[in-house]
Amino acid sequence: MKFGGTSVGDVAAFERVYHVVSSQMEKRLVVVVSAMTKVTDALLAAFDMAKKGDFAEAITSLQPHFERHVVVANHFIPEGSPNLFDVELQFVRNELSDLLMRAARRSLPLSMLKDAIVSYGEQLSSRLLAEVLKAKGMSARQFDSRRLIMTDDEFGAAQPIIDETNEIVRLELEPSIRAGEVPVMGGFIAGNRAGETTTLGRGGSDYSAAIVAAALNASELQIWTDVSGVMTCDPRISSNARTIPVLSYEEAAELAYFGAKVLHPKTIKPAVDNAIPVRVCSTFQPDRIGTMILAESGHAPNTIKSIASKKNITILRINSARMLGAYGFMSAVFQVFDRHRTVIDVISTSEVSVALTLDHADGIDKLVEDLRRLGDVEVESGYAVICVVGDGLRASTGLASKIFSTIEDVHVALVSHGASAVNLTFVVRESDASTVIKKLHEEFF
Ligand code: ADP
Ligand code: ASP
Ligand code: MG
Repeated sequence: MKFGGTSVGDVAAFERVYHVVSSQMEKRLVVVVSAMTKVTDALLAAFDMAKKGDFAEAITSLQPHFERHVVVANHFIPEGSPNLFDVELQFVRNELSDLLMRAARRSLPLSMLKDAIVSYGEQLSSRLLAEVLKAKGMSARQFDSRRLIMTDDEFGAAQPIIDETNEIVRLELEPSIRAGEVPVMGGFIAGNRAGETTTLGRGGSDYSAAIVAAALNASELQIWTDVSGVMTCDPRISSNARTIPVLSYEEAAELAYFGAKVLHPKTIKPAVDNAIPVRVCSTFQPDRIGTMILAESGHAPNTIKSIASKKNITILRINSARMLGAYGFMSAVFQVFDRHRTVIDVISTSEVSVALTLDHADGIDKLVEDLRRLGDVEVESGYAVICVVGDGLRASTGLASKIFSTIEDVHVALVSHGASAVNLTFVVRESDASTVIKKLHEEFF
């Protein structure tokens, strides 16, 4: 069971988590928890302040967040009873202060310090949740994910080393589960072979949960969040969004990748590889089934399941007339992206030109410089990718024309269709994105 940040935001949220966990005690559970909502952002901001030399300000900015943990601890843990959380918090304050000082003084590599600092969100939330569950009479036990999930050294976006992780997770968690305990571990955080703290990328707790589910060959992975499942679009964009009962892995992966924040894109992979059903459900409505993500969603051709979007997209258009009729153009283009380790999202090609999108524009100057050796390059920012997902979209007739006629007054900058059987993706100006989603949602749902 994975609980997201909004599910552990305050006293009421912890109470809800306790009810969800206690209602499934007949199963053998592992709980994976995110940092309390806003804490990861606060830690990242503190790191930035320290980096600029504002050490005192960095420390002060974290106090209200420590305080939020203390409020929850004081509410659930009776005064005078042994309380591992207080001990932990004292350590955390000291360690964070030391790490922020190091960031200010640059006395260790910054990428390493950043992960170490940001990891305290999950270190604290997992300790706190375990203590709350214990205070409620459960036999819960906190595990340090930095010793369970083994990754490479790519700070900020570390890749798990699956074989070793599987072995450690089984070795550590199985005896605890067998003994009737509920292991509680932080998501998002991990460790490399040298024992340094790493993180799996923003939103990575879903990924942690899937890795653990796969290692233990779980019968189900439950993602508990603040919405009642994967919905027909982001409920913050249209209040008419509905919960989708069943999605295939492929559909869910496309949605997650193209901006349905409810699931982290990589979450799907360990679950797919191990045929573990994933259930997305709400701590606010624990009795509702939510969305089941299964290998196959059942055949429902010509239906659109959901519409996702991702903003802050940059388009690159590369045109090389001298490559007309020559082979090797695509390969040359891809090699440049490979060299710059830059991920391409959407791509559309013609004989001598390629248009493609990137989801960030940091440090693309060098990439563009290299691409200019192949032809003319135009860079346009301020776009959004819209991704329409549904089983059989590639094979369907008439859906594409219905989609584009619904938004005929909107400028479409790029279209990609046919690579996946389940999606149609196009790019519009960022300022049009919400309108496009609302219109499509109204038309199709
Ligand atoms: P958590 O803290 O539980 O990990 P997130 O904030 O990462 O939660 O993800 C849940 C949020 O994802 C929802 O509050 C919702 O606004 C957003 N979201 C975006 N697209 C969708 C979608 N298609 N279905 C459901 N939620 C979505
Ligand atoms: N706390 C981390 C984040 O905010 C990981 C997560 O919540 O999944 O990105
Ligand atoms: Mg999330």
